[in-house]
Amino acid sequence: MFQHKKTIAEGDLVLAYIGRDNLKPIFVKSGDVLQTKYGNFPHTDMIGKPFGSQVTSAKNVGFIYLLLPTPELWTVSLPHRTQIVYTPDSSYIVQRMNVVGGSRVIEAGTGSGSFTHAFSRTVGPSGRVFSYEFHEQRYLQAKEEFESHKLENVTLTHRDVCNEGFDIDTEIRAQMVFLDLPSPWEAIPHLSRVIAKDQTVGICCFSPCIEQVVKAVEALQECGWTAIEMTEVQAKKWEARKEMVRELDDAIERLRDVKRRQKEGAELKKLPPKRDADGNEKDRGYNPFGKGRRIAEGDESFQWQNVSKTGPELKTHTSYLLFARLVPVLGAEV
Ligand code: SAM
Repeated sequence: MFQHKKTIAEGDLVLAYIGRDNLKPIFVKSGDVLQTKYGNFPHTDMIGKPFGSQVTSAKNVGFIYLLLPTPELWTVSLPHRTQIVYTPDSSYIVQRMNVVGGSRVIEAGTGSGSFTHAFSRTVGPSGRVFSYEFHEQRYLQAKEEFESHKLENVTLTHRDVCNEGFDIDTEIRAQMVFLDLPSPWEAIPHLSRVIAKDQTVGICCFSPCIEQVVKAVEALQECGWTAIEMTEVQAKKWEARKEMVRELDDAIERLRDVKRRQKEGAELKKLPPKRDADGNEKDRGYNPFGKGRRIAEGDESFQWQNVSKTGPELKTHTSYLLFARLVPVLGAEV
């Protein structure tokens, strides 16, 4: 799994935070240069810096942050080879299936390896993730990635699990199963040979269509799985802040100000900002409701009310999460 480190060294994977939606994974190599729209960043300047540092570009025109990779950050920066599972879903699945340090997990298919990274960190060095991918190119890319990220607790197998099942040379004894496949109902009957026989096993099937869910439910029931439940995660941001109370008079005053400023032209704006003795930018005296002045939220010279509202939905891949449990039969051979 990603190792925790304090300082950046030659060969380390660093996630360059270029902007809110722009994280770029780089392997630090002396002599290489990261080129961005904010300037060029020589890798040599990164070596020896603590993870989390801000570095400025060669010509001091911009800056980026150098972040330590985590499964969450990897999910938003990885090269997409398929649809992926995002953190709002993976975190819910991990806690709901009670995946913990030492757990043994089956995952199919591997896809872009987004969820594999989260599983790998959660199960830790004493656990194991058995991941399967039937697309050769994706399998090879995932293999290379897992090796370079040191996901040593992941066993990756190139296999069509729907036709060939999950058996490998090692004893699997999986306690949790995660299926992100177009036809999970074809893989479910193969599970009985590779799951733990002495404890309750959990499964989650991740499917975008309700028809897939229905077929998976039938397969689960036929194979003896119980406590079948379906969930959908619709993560949203919840915003709680102060909003300025604006009266009709304020709106009229704002319109007047717009007119006034149109008349005066935008000359004031072209001038360099006025500064006080400490170098802080001074208010030019624009209308507070116009664009000319920034008002800190809660500024006591204005009236405020508390508001709360939902933000846009977070980036996630909308799918139905189908959960079930297989309880061991008492007296059955273990
Ligand atoms: N969960 C992954 C992630 O977070 O990156 C994404 C999985 S992607 C949506 C589904 C993957 O399953 C694809 O890469 C596909 O090639 C693979 N797949 C589909 N059918 C399969 C099968 N029968 N056996 C193994 N892999 C399969």
